[in-house]
Amino acid sequence: MTDTLLSTDVSALDAADPLAPFRDRFHLREGLIYLDGNSLGALPKATGDRLAEVVGSEWGEGLITSWLGAEWSTAPRRIGDKIGRLIGAAPGEIVATDSTSVNIFKALTAALSLRRERGVILSEATNFPTDVYMMQGIEAFSGGRVKAVTVAPDAIVDALTDDVAVLLLTQVHYKSGRVRDMAAITRAAHDVGALVVWDLSHSAGAIPVDLNGANADFAIGCGYKFLNGGPGAPAYLFAAARHHAATPVLSGWFGHARPFDFEEDYDPAAGIERFQCGTPPVLGLSALEVGVDLMLEADMAEIRRKSLALGDLFIEHMQPLCDTYGFELVSTQGHAERGSQVAYAHPQGYQIVQALKEFDVIADFRAPDILRFGLTPLYLRYRDIVETVERLEKVCATRAWDKPQYHQRAAVT
Ligand SMILES: *Cc1c(COP(=O)(O)O)cnc(C)c1O
Repeated sequence: MTDTLLSTDVSALDAADPLAPFRDRFHLREGLIYLDGNSLGALPKATGDRLAEVVGSEWGEGLITSWLGAEWSTAPRRIGDKIGRLIGAAPGEIVATDSTSVNIFKALTAALSLRRERGVILSEATNFPTDVYMMQGIEAFSGGRVKAVTVAPDAIVDALTDDVAVLLLTQVHYKSGRVRDMAAITRAAHDVGALVVWDLSHSAGAIPVDLNGANADFAIGCGYKFLNGGPGAPAYLFAAARHHAATPVLSGWFGHARPFDFEEDYDPAAGIERFQCGTPPVLGLSALEVGVDLMLEADMAEIRRKSLALGDLFIEHMQPLCDTYGFELVSTQGHAERGSQVAYAHPQGYQIVQALKEFDVIADFRAPDILRFGLTPLYLRYRDIVETVERLEKVCATRAWDKPQYHQRAAVT
């Protein structure tokens, strides 16, 4: 062990941690260190009971009367309002619905409907693939009206020209964890008359976000990452109140002003409800609500403070491994630009992440060579960080990663 490992009194940090009691609210197997809450959040203990209630009582007993009796029909809006409290939106500006990919489509086409004289959707080339794929699909469908343009990450602001209708940008980059200045970039886009769709998949529940403070137009994000909503949880869509006249392209009946009048023609709801499409996924929403409620109990400033402290500790303890085994820090060390994850590049990144599982550490790998360590302050302890680096050092020292089965990539990484 190195001097730094010994010099940090992590038990004192854990003892003084105001968020420490939250760990017990999650189901976490003893011994496991879970550093992948940025991909799939851990299971809140309350989720199972809540789902049993929804299935047994609301569905089993209440049947169709539960759309009103158990307030199923208003769940997307109710949970959207709760998510809004986490990311600086007003009530009535968010619905919890559909997947992030589908919401990207809805937000981009809504923005295009507000900028009919312009045709460019701009993003960064290294954005999360689904974001760019959705842009390309809209381009292909548009018959020449829309063009999907991607540029290098640092070229975004220069690429904001007066033919850009909408910029789609992820606030916290999924690989590097780099944080974008939402207010400054939104201002730069507005200066040229463009709108912005922010992808908050790695922001909500991870860092403080103030959508209305940044004068944001649209935003979307995942429910199953830092919000702990469960696998495939519904996502959410934010539309600033001033944009509620945008024309929804996915003009489903749940976005209609009067869905149960069964009218022949589409007439979108006046408010955020127009960004819904079909029947809400009640079971998924019920699990998501438990995760969001739990997150709302915590102080976001405290979450951010601990997330940065966990990251600093990780980076400090990793330094000897960088020197000895060739890990290269990809995340920025500076706090302002670092999200709630730490990423390293290593040529054997895939194998190392697989071998870490033998040592009961779950992290994840993102091609071509990134090891991602997600930091979730609600259920990670400082000592988990130190322990992770110790186990990683064992993986490297014993070359536990150098096994034939780890040289074959699995379908899901
Ligand atoms: C995780 C993630 C998504 C995932 O989209 P789904 O439709 O939920 O699969 C999209 N964008 C970003 C930036 C992400 O990190």
